[in-house]
Amino acid sequence: MGEYALRLPGGELAGDCAGILRDPPPLGRGLMRTEYRAARLAVRDMPGMYRFYDWLPVRSVIGTDASPVAFRSERLSRELGVRDLWIGFTGYHPERGAFAKSCSFKELEALPTYSRIGDLGGGTVALASAGNTARAFAQVSGETGRRCVIFVPEGSAGRVRATGDGGYARLFEVRGDYADAIRMAERAASAGGLIPEGGARNVARRDGMGTVLLEGALAMGRLPDRYFQAVGSGTGAISAWEASMRLIGDGRFGDRLPELDLSQNLSFAPMKRAWEAGRREISGEDLETPGAGGAYADVLANRRPPYGAAGGVFDAMSACGGRFYGVSEAEARSAGKLWSSMESASLDPAACVALASLIRAAGDGGISEGERVFLNLTGGGADRAEEDLDLVKIKPEARLGGGETDEEMRRILNE
Ligand SMILES: *Cc1c(COP(=O)(O)O)cnc(C)c1O
Repeated sequence: MGEYALRLPGGELAGDCAGILRDPPPLGRGLMRTEYRAARLAVRDMPGMYRFYDWLPVRSVIGTDASPVAFRSERLSRELGVRDLWIGFTGYHPERGAFAKSCSFKELEALPTYSRIGDLGGGTVALASAGNTARAFAQVSGETGRRCVIFVPEGSAGRVRATGDGGYARLFEVRGDYADAIRMAERAASAGGLIPEGGARNVARRDGMGTVLLEGALAMGRLPDRYFQAVGSGTGAISAWEASMRLIGDGRFGDRLPELDLSQNLSFAPMKRAWEAGRREISGEDLETPGAGGAYADVLANRRPPYGAAGGVFDAMSACGGRFYGVSEAEARSAGKLWSSMESASLDPAACVALASLIRAAGDGGISEGERVFLNLTGGGADRAEEDLDLVKIKPEARLGGGETDEEMRRILNE
Protein backbone atom coordinates (compact mmCIF):
# COMPACT_ATOMS: atom_id res chain seq x y z
CA MET A 1 0.00 0.00 0.00
CA GLY A 2 0.88 3.63 -0.22
CA GLU A 3 2.18 3.26 -3.76
CA TYR A 4 0.08 6.19 -4.95
CA ALA A 5 -1.89 9.19 -3.78
CA LEU A 6 -4.84 11.04 -5.30
CA ARG A 7 -4.69 14.77 -5.75
CA LEU A 8 -7.26 17.36 -6.87
CA PRO A 9 -6.26 19.94 -9.52
CA GLY A 10 -5.85 22.61 -6.83
CA GLY A 11 -3.11 20.47 -5.30
CA GLU A 12 -5.19 19.28 -2.37
CA LEU A 13 -4.59 15.63 -1.42
CA ALA A 14 -7.81 13.65 -1.73
CA GLY A 15 -7.18 11.54 1.34
CA ASP A 16 -8.21 7.92 1.35
CA CYS A 17 -7.52 6.55 -2.09
CA ALA A 18 -10.27 3.98 -1.72
CA GLY A 19 -12.91 6.73 -1.83
CA ILE A 20 -12.78 7.56 -5.50
CA LEU A 21 -15.24 5.04 -6.88
CA ARG A 22 -17.88 5.31 -4.21
CA ASP A 23 -17.79 9.00 -3.58
CA PRO A 24 -15.72 10.94 -6.09
CA PRO A 25 -15.68 14.73 -5.77
CA PRO A 26 -18.09 16.43 -8.21
CA LEU A 27 -16.76 17.24 -11.67
CA GLY A 28 -16.95 20.94 -10.76
CA ARG A 29 -13.94 20.49 -8.49
CA GLY A 30 -11.95 19.08 -11.37
CA LEU A 31 -10.53 15.66 -12.14
CA MET A 32 -8.65 13.99 -9.32
CA ARG A 33 -5.34 12.60 -10.53
CA THR A 34 -3.09 9.75 -9.39
CA GLU A 35 0.46 10.40 -8.21
CA TYR A 36 2.58 7.28 -8.21
CA ARG A 37 5.51 6.76 -5.93
CA ALA A 38 7.44 5.05 -8.75
CA ALA A 39 8.80 7.90 -10.89
CA ARG A 40 10.35 5.49 -13.39
CA LEU A 41 8.30 3.14 -15.54
CA ALA A 42 9.32 -0.41 -14.65
CA VAL A 43 7.62 -3.18 -16.59
CA ARG A 44 6.43 -5.99 -14.34
CA ASP A 45 6.05 -9.65 -15.12
CA MET A 46 2.29 -9.63 -14.64
CA PRO A 47 -0.66 -10.65 -16.84
CA GLY A 48 -1.72 -8.46 -19.78
CA MET A 49 -1.94 -4.74 -19.08
CA TYR A 50 -0.89 -5.30 -15.45
CA ARG A 51 2.67 -5.17 -16.71
CA PHE A 52 2.13 -1.45 -16.03
CA TYR A 53 1.13 -2.23 -12.44
CA ASP A 54 3.36 0.48 -10.96
CA TRP A 55 1.34 3.13 -12.80
CA LEU A 56 -2.12 1.67 -12.20
CA PRO A 57 -4.16 2.71 -9.13
CA VAL A 58 -4.76 -0.88 -8.04
CA ARG A 59 -3.54 -3.49 -5.62
CA SER A 60 -5.26 -6.65 -6.89
CA VAL A 61 -4.45 -8.11 -10.29
CA ILE A 62 -6.90 -9.87 -12.62
CA GLY A 63 -5.70 -12.71 -14.83
CA THR A 64 -6.07 -11.39 -18.39
CA ASP A 65 -4.47 -11.42 -21.83
CA ALA A 66 -5.83 -7.97 -22.63
CA SER A 67 -3.16 -5.38 -23.22
CA PRO A 68 -2.55 -2.62 -25.73
CA VAL A 69 -0.01 -3.40 -28.45
CA ALA A 70 2.22 -1.02 -30.39
CA PHE A 71 3.73 -1.67 -33.80
CA ARG A 72 4.74 -0.13 -37.09
CA SER A 73 3.15 -0.81 -40.44
CA GLU A 74 5.49 -0.24 -43.36
CA ARG A 75 2.58 -0.48 -45.77
CA LEU A 76 0.46 2.10 -43.98
CA SER A 77 3.46 4.39 -43.59
CA ARG A 78 4.13 4.22 -47.32
CA GLU A 79 0.47 4.61 -48.25
CA LEU A 80 0.13 7.76 -46.13
CA GLY A 81 3.60 9.11 -46.73
CA VAL A 82 4.20 9.37 -42.97
CA ARG A 83 7.66 7.98 -42.36
CA ASP A 84 7.77 7.80 -38.56
CA LEU A 85 4.34 6.32 -37.89
CA TRP A 86 3.56 4.08 -34.91
CA ILE A 87 0.28 2.40 -34.16
CA GLY A 88 -1.23 1.66 -30.77
CA PHE A 89 -3.99 -0.92 -31.03
CA THR A 90 -6.42 -2.38 -28.52
CA GLY A 91 -8.83 -5.06 -29.63
CA TYR A 92 -8.79 -8.62 -30.87
CA HIS A 93 -6.10 -9.11 -33.51
CA PRO A 94 -4.15 -12.31 -32.77
CA GLU A 95 -1.54 -11.74 -35.52
CA ARG A 96 -0.56 -8.52 -33.74
CA GLY A 97 -0.66 -10.10 -30.28
CA ALA A 98 -3.85 -8.24 -29.30
CA PHE A 99 -6.34 -10.25 -27.25
CA ALA A 100 -8.87 -7.84 -25.75
CA LYS A 101 -11.97 -9.97 -26.32
CA SER A 102 -14.44 -7.10 -26.04
CA CYS A 103 -12.56 -5.47 -28.93
CA SER A 104 -11.87 -1.96 -27.61
CA PHE A 105 -9.73 0.00 -25.18
CA LYS A 106 -12.74 0.16 -22.83
CA GLU A 107 -11.43 -3.20 -21.59
CA LEU A 108 -8.32 -1.33 -20.35
CA GLU A 109 -10.71 0.79 -18.25
CA ALA A 110 -12.87 -2.08 -17.02
CA LEU A 111 -9.97 -4.23 -15.77
CA PRO A 112 -8.39 -1.74 -13.32
CA THR A 113 -11.87 -0.58 -12.28
CA TYR A 114 -12.66 -4.15 -11.27
CA SER A 115 -9.31 -4.36 -9.50
CA ARG A 116 -10.25 -1.27 -7.49
CA ILE A 117 -13.64 -2.74 -6.65
CA GLY A 118 -11.81 -5.79 -5.33
CA ASP A 119 -9.41 -3.51 -3.42
CA LEU A 120 -12.42 -1.77 -1.85
CA GLY A 121 -13.79 -5.06 -0.57
CA GLY A 122 -16.17 -5.88 -3.40
CA GLY A 123 -19.49 -4.60 -4.64
CA THR A 124 -21.51 -4.43 -7.81
CA VAL A 125 -20.80 -1.77 -10.39
CA ALA A 126 -23.59 0.03 -12.27
CA LEU A 127 -23.13 1.60 -15.68
CA ALA A 128 -24.98 2.91 -18.68
CA SER A 129 -23.68 2.19 -22.15
CA ALA A 130 -24.93 1.18 -25.53
CA GLY A 131 -21.70 -0.14 -26.81
CA ASN A 132 -18.09 -0.81 -26.03
CA THR A 133 -18.19 0.05 -22.32
CA ALA A 134 -21.03 -2.43 -21.79
CA ARG A 135 -19.14 -5.15 -23.67
CA ALA A 136 -15.94 -4.49 -21.74
CA PHE A 137 -17.57 -4.56 -18.30
CA ALA A 138 -19.64 -7.64 -19.22
CA GLN A 139 -16.47 -9.41 -20.37
CA VAL A 140 -14.48 -8.59 -17.24
CA SER A 141 -17.41 -9.36 -14.94
CA GLY A 142 -17.51 -12.89 -16.37
CA GLU A 143 -13.74 -13.26 -15.99
CA THR A 144 -13.77 -12.09 -12.37
CA GLY A 145 -17.10 -13.58 -11.27
CA ARG A 146 -18.14 -10.15 -9.99
CA ARG A 147 -21.51 -8.79 -10.97
CA CYS A 148 -22.22 -5.65 -12.91
CA VAL A 149 -25.54 -4.07 -13.79
CA ILE A 150 -25.77 -2.49 -17.23
CA PHE A 151 -28.47 -0.12 -18.43
CA VAL A 152 -28.87 0.27 -22.18
CA PRO A 153 -31.28 2.38 -24.21
CA GLU A 154 -34.02 0.25 -25.75
CA GLY A 155 -33.08 -1.39 -28.99
CA SER A 156 -29.36 -1.68 -28.25
CA ALA A 157 -29.33 -4.73 -25.94
CA GLY A 158 -28.35 -6.97 -28.85
CA ARG A 159 -24.85 -5.52 -28.94
CA VAL A 160 -23.90 -6.63 -25.43
CA ARG A 161 -21.97 -9.88 -25.74
CA ALA A 162 -19.16 -11.60 -23.91
CA THR A 163 -17.27 -14.87 -23.89
CA GLY A 164 -17.68 -17.49 -21.19
CA ASP A 165 -20.09 -16.89 -18.38
CA GLY A 166 -22.17 -13.85 -19.25
CA GLY A 167 -24.27 -14.71 -16.21
CA TYR A 168 -22.49 -12.18 -14.02
CA ALA A 169 -23.62 -9.23 -16.10
CA ARG A 170 -27.22 -8.15 -15.57
CA LEU A 171 -28.73 -6.18 -18.39
CA PHE A 172 -31.75 -3.83 -18.33
CA GLU A 173 -33.27 -1.95 -21.22
CA VAL A 174 -34.45 1.56 -20.48
CA ARG A 175 -37.17 3.31 -22.46
CA GLY A 176 -35.70 6.33 -24.23
CA ASP A 177 -32.17 7.21 -25.22
CA TYR A 178 -28.69 7.06 -23.75
CA ALA A 179 -29.39 9.97 -21.38
CA ASP A 180 -32.34 8.02 -19.93
CA ALA A 181 -30.09 4.97 -19.44
CA ILE A 182 -27.55 7.15 -17.60
CA ARG A 183 -30.26 8.48 -15.29
CA MET A 184 -31.41 4.94 -14.50
CA ALA A 185 -27.85 3.81 -13.73
CA GLU A 186 -27.44 6.74 -11.33
CA ARG A 187 -30.78 5.99 -9.68
CA ALA A 188 -29.95 2.29 -9.39
CA ALA A 189 -26.61 3.13 -7.82
CA SER A 190 -28.10 5.40 -5.17
CA ALA A 191 -31.24 3.35 -4.46
CA GLY A 192 -29.70 -0.09 -4.77
CA GLY A 193 -26.29 0.49 -3.19
CA LEU A 194 -24.41 -0.18 -6.42
CA ILE A 195 -21.07 1.42 -7.24
CA PRO A 196 -21.27 3.97 -10.09
CA GLU A 197 -18.39 3.38 -12.50
CA GLY A 198 -17.51 7.08 -12.35
CA GLY A 199 -16.73 7.83 -16.00
CA ALA A 200 -13.86 10.24 -16.53
CA ARG A 201 -13.62 10.89 -12.78
CA ASN A 202 -12.59 7.29 -12.21
CA VAL A 203 -8.78 7.32 -12.10
CA ALA A 204 -8.70 3.59 -12.86
CA ARG A 205 -10.42 4.24 -16.18
CA ARG A 206 -8.02 7.05 -17.11
CA ASP A 207 -4.80 5.39 -16.02
CA GLY A 208 -5.98 2.16 -17.66
CA MET A 209 -6.42 3.93 -21.02
CA GLY A 210 -3.10 5.67 -20.48
CA THR A 211 -1.31 2.32 -20.84
CA VAL A 212 -1.72 2.59 -24.63
CA LEU A 213 0.73 5.48 -24.71
CA LEU A 214 2.99 3.73 -22.17
CA GLU A 215 3.15 0.73 -24.49
CA GLY A 216 3.84 3.08 -27.39
CA ALA A 217 6.58 4.98 -25.58
CA LEU A 218 8.36 1.72 -24.74
CA ALA A 219 8.19 0.65 -28.39
CA MET A 220 9.27 4.06 -29.72
CA GLY A 221 11.90 4.75 -27.09
CA ARG A 222 10.49 8.24 -26.54
CA LEU A 223 7.26 10.23 -26.57
CA PRO A 224 5.70 10.91 -29.98
CA ASP A 225 5.40 14.44 -31.39
CA ARG A 226 1.77 13.89 -32.35
CA TYR A 227 -1.00 11.77 -30.78
CA PHE A 228 -4.05 10.88 -32.93
CA GLN A 229 -7.26 9.56 -31.38
CA ALA A 230 -11.02 9.68 -31.98
CA VAL A 231 -12.84 11.10 -28.97
CA GLY A 232 -16.35 11.14 -27.56
CA SER A 233 -15.82 11.92 -23.89
CA GLY A 234 -12.18 12.82 -24.53
CA THR A 235 -11.13 10.73 -21.55
CA GLY A 236 -8.55 8.97 -23.71
CA ALA A 237 -6.99 12.33 -24.62
CA ILE A 238 -6.86 13.39 -20.97
CA SER A 239 -5.23 10.05 -20.20
CA ALA A 240 -2.65 10.53 -22.94
CA TRP A 241 -1.76 13.95 -21.49
CA GLU A 242 -1.46 12.51 -17.98
CA ALA A 243 0.59 9.52 -19.17
CA SER A 244 2.86 11.92 -21.10
CA MET A 245 3.53 13.98 -17.97
CA ARG A 246 4.48 10.81 -16.10
CA LEU A 247 6.75 9.73 -18.96
CA ILE A 248 8.43 13.13 -18.95
CA GLY A 249 8.87 12.75 -15.20
CA ASP A 250 10.54 9.39 -15.81
CA GLY A 251 13.30 11.22 -17.69
CA ARG A 252 14.00 8.65 -20.42
CA PHE A 253 11.26 9.55 -22.90
CA GLY A 254 11.92 13.16 -23.77
CA ASP A 255 10.63 16.38 -22.28
CA ARG A 256 7.93 17.53 -24.72
CA LEU A 257 4.22 16.82 -24.52
CA PRO A 258 2.81 15.39 -27.76
CA GLU A 259 0.35 17.58 -29.66
CA LEU A 260 -3.17 16.15 -29.54
CA ASP A 261 -4.86 15.45 -32.89
CA LEU A 262 -8.41 14.59 -31.85
CA SER A 263 -11.22 13.55 -34.14
CA GLN A 264 -15.00 13.41 -33.98
CA ASN A 265 -17.80 12.56 -36.41
CA LEU A 266 -18.37 15.51 -38.76
CA SER A 267 -22.11 15.20 -38.04
CA PHE A 268 -21.72 15.61 -34.27
CA ALA A 269 -18.60 17.31 -33.00
CA PRO A 270 -19.38 19.35 -29.87
CA MET A 271 -15.80 19.47 -28.55
CA LYS A 272 -14.42 20.41 -31.95
CA ARG A 273 -16.89 23.28 -32.22
CA ALA A 274 -16.30 24.58 -28.70
CA TRP A 275 -12.50 24.35 -29.08
CA GLU A 276 -12.45 26.11 -32.44
CA ALA A 277 -14.63 28.89 -31.01
CA GLY A 278 -12.14 29.24 -28.18
CA ARG A 279 -14.73 28.36 -25.53
CA ARG A 280 -14.18 26.40 -22.36
CA GLU A 281 -17.85 25.45 -22.19
CA ILE A 282 -19.86 23.42 -24.66
CA SER A 283 -22.89 25.45 -25.67
CA GLY A 284 -26.29 24.37 -26.95
CA GLU A 285 -25.24 25.39 -30.43
CA ASP A 286 -22.24 23.00 -30.33
CA LEU A 287 -24.69 20.16 -29.70
CA GLU A 288 -26.68 20.81 -32.84
CA THR A 289 -26.47 18.11 -35.46
CA PRO A 290 -26.01 19.49 -38.95
CA GLY A 291 -27.59 17.41 -41.65
CA ALA A 292 -29.64 14.25 -41.30
CA GLY A 293 -28.69 10.84 -40.05
CA GLY A 294 -26.89 9.65 -36.95
CA ALA A 295 -23.19 9.65 -36.24
CA TYR A 296 -21.12 7.04 -38.10
CA ALA A 297 -19.20 6.08 -34.94
CA ASP A 298 -21.91 6.39 -32.31
CA VAL A 299 -19.53 5.69 -29.38
CA LEU A 300 -18.19 9.17 -30.09
CA ALA A 301 -21.55 10.91 -29.75
CA ASN A 302 -21.25 12.05 -26.14
CA ARG A 303 -23.33 15.09 -25.20
CA ARG A 304 -21.70 15.78 -21.82
CA PRO A 305 -17.94 15.20 -22.11
CA PRO A 306 -15.58 16.35 -19.30
CA TYR A 307 -14.42 19.16 -21.53
CA GLY A 308 -14.37 22.31 -19.39
CA ALA A 309 -13.68 20.75 -15.97
CA ALA A 310 -10.26 21.46 -14.44
CA GLY A 311 -7.94 18.76 -15.72
CA GLY A 312 -10.35 17.98 -18.58
CA VAL A 313 -10.10 18.09 -22.37
CA PHE A 314 -9.82 21.89 -22.68
CA ASP A 315 -6.89 21.91 -20.25
CA ALA A 316 -5.29 18.93 -22.01
CA MET A 317 -5.52 20.73 -25.37
CA SER A 318 -4.25 23.97 -23.86
CA ALA A 319 -1.24 22.23 -22.32
CA CYS A 320 -0.34 20.01 -25.28
CA GLY A 321 -1.49 22.09 -28.21
CA GLY A 322 -3.27 20.42 -31.06
CA ARG A 323 -6.37 20.44 -33.19
CA PHE A 324 -9.70 18.76 -33.87
CA TYR A 325 -10.88 17.06 -37.05
CA GLY A 326 -14.46 16.48 -38.15
CA VAL A 327 -14.49 13.25 -40.16
CA SER A 328 -17.22 12.41 -42.65
CA GLU A 329 -18.76 8.99 -42.93
CA ALA A 330 -17.25 8.54 -46.39
CA GLU A 331 -13.75 9.33 -45.09
CA ALA A 332 -14.17 6.94 -42.16
CA ARG A 333 -15.44 4.13 -44.38
CA SER A 334 -12.62 4.54 -46.81
CA ALA A 335 -10.08 4.53 -43.96
CA GLY A 336 -11.63 1.28 -42.67
CA LYS A 337 -11.31 -0.29 -46.15
CA LEU A 338 -7.68 0.74 -46.42
CA TRP A 339 -6.91 -0.82 -43.04
CA SER A 340 -8.75 -4.07 -43.88
CA SER A 341 -6.77 -4.36 -47.11
CA MET A 342 -3.58 -4.50 -45.03
CA GLU A 343 -4.51 -6.20 -41.76
CA SER A 344 -6.43 -9.37 -40.88
CA ALA A 345 -8.74 -7.71 -38.35
CA SER A 346 -11.22 -4.92 -39.03
CA LEU A 347 -11.31 -1.56 -37.23
CA ASP A 348 -14.03 -0.29 -34.92
CA PRO A 349 -15.89 2.65 -36.56
CA ALA A 350 -14.32 5.06 -34.03
CA ALA A 351 -10.82 3.86 -34.91
CA CYS A 352 -11.72 4.38 -38.59
CA VAL A 353 -12.45 8.02 -37.71
CA ALA A 354 -8.98 8.37 -36.13
CA LEU A 355 -7.24 6.78 -39.12
CA ALA A 356 -9.24 9.01 -41.47
CA SER A 357 -8.08 12.10 -39.56
CA LEU A 358 -4.46 11.06 -40.04
CA ILE A 359 -5.05 10.38 -43.74
CA ARG A 360 -6.48 13.91 -44.04
CA ALA A 361 -3.62 15.49 -42.08
CA ALA A 362 -1.01 13.65 -44.15
CA GLY A 363 -2.75 14.53 -47.42
CA ASP A 364 -2.98 18.22 -46.48
CA GLY A 365 0.71 18.43 -45.67
CA GLY A 366 -0.17 18.68 -41.99
CA ILE A 367 2.57 16.30 -40.87
CA SER A 368 6.11 17.67 -41.00
CA GLU A 369 9.04 15.63 -42.19
CA GLY A 370 10.62 13.83 -39.27
CA GLU A 371 7.63 14.15 -36.92
CA ARG A 372 6.96 11.03 -34.92
CA VAL A 373 3.26 10.17 -35.11
CA PHE A 374 1.39 7.87 -32.73
CA LEU A 375 -2.02 6.70 -33.95
CA ASN A 376 -4.17 5.26 -31.18
CA LEU A 377 -6.54 2.78 -32.83
CA THR A 378 -8.93 2.31 -29.96
CA GLY A 379 -10.88 -0.71 -31.14
CA GLY A 380 -11.01 -3.46 -33.70
CA GLY A 381 -11.21 -7.13 -34.46
CA ALA A 382 -14.95 -7.65 -33.92
CA ASP A 383 -14.87 -9.77 -37.09
CA ARG A 384 -12.02 -11.94 -35.80
CA ALA A 385 -13.60 -12.26 -32.35
CA GLU A 386 -16.78 -13.44 -34.05
CA GLU A 387 -14.82 -16.19 -35.84
CA ASP A 388 -12.53 -17.29 -33.02
CA LEU A 389 -14.45 -16.80 -29.79
CA ASP A 390 -17.61 -18.21 -28.35
CA LEU A 391 -19.52 -14.96 -27.82
CA VAL A 392 -22.78 -15.17 -25.93
CA LYS A 393 -25.48 -12.53 -26.20
CA ILE A 394 -26.52 -11.21 -22.80
CA LYS A 395 -30.30 -11.07 -22.60
CA PRO A 396 -32.05 -8.15 -20.94
CA GLU A 397 -33.92 -9.13 -17.77
CA ALA A 398 -36.53 -6.43 -18.07
CA ARG A 399 -37.48 -3.24 -19.78
CA LEU A 400 -37.71 -0.28 -17.43
CA GLY A 401 -40.02 2.64 -18.14
CA GLY A 402 -37.86 5.20 -16.36
CA GLY A 403 -40.54 6.19 -13.82
CA GLU A 404 -39.73 3.43 -11.30
CA THR A 405 -39.61 4.49 -7.65
CA ASP A 406 -36.55 3.76 -5.51
CA GLU A 407 -38.55 1.02 -3.82
CA GLU A 408 -39.35 -0.58 -7.17
CA MET A 409 -35.71 -0.24 -8.26
CA ARG A 410 -34.56 -2.07 -5.14
CA ARG A 411 -37.10 -4.84 -5.72
CA ILE A 412 -36.03 -5.23 -9.36
CA LEU A 413 -32.34 -5.30 -8.44
CA ASN A 414 -32.87 -7.81 -5.64
CA GLU A 415 -34.73 -10.29 -7.78
C1 LIG B 1 -15.11 5.02 -26.18
C2 LIG B 1 -14.35 4.90 -27.42
C3 LIG B 1 -13.66 6.00 -27.96
C4 LIG B 1 -13.69 7.37 -27.36
O1 LIG B 1 -13.01 7.38 -26.18
P1 LIG B 1 -12.86 8.65 -25.27
O2 LIG B 1 -13.48 8.25 -23.96
O3 LIG B 1 -13.58 9.77 -25.88
O4 LIG B 1 -11.41 8.89 -25.17
C5 LIG B 1 -12.89 5.81 -29.10
N1 LIG B 1 -12.85 4.61 -29.69
C6 LIG B 1 -13.50 3.53 -29.21
C7 LIG B 1 -13.37 2.24 -29.93
C8 LIG B 1 -14.27 3.64 -28.06
O5 LIG B 1 -14.91 2.56 -27.59
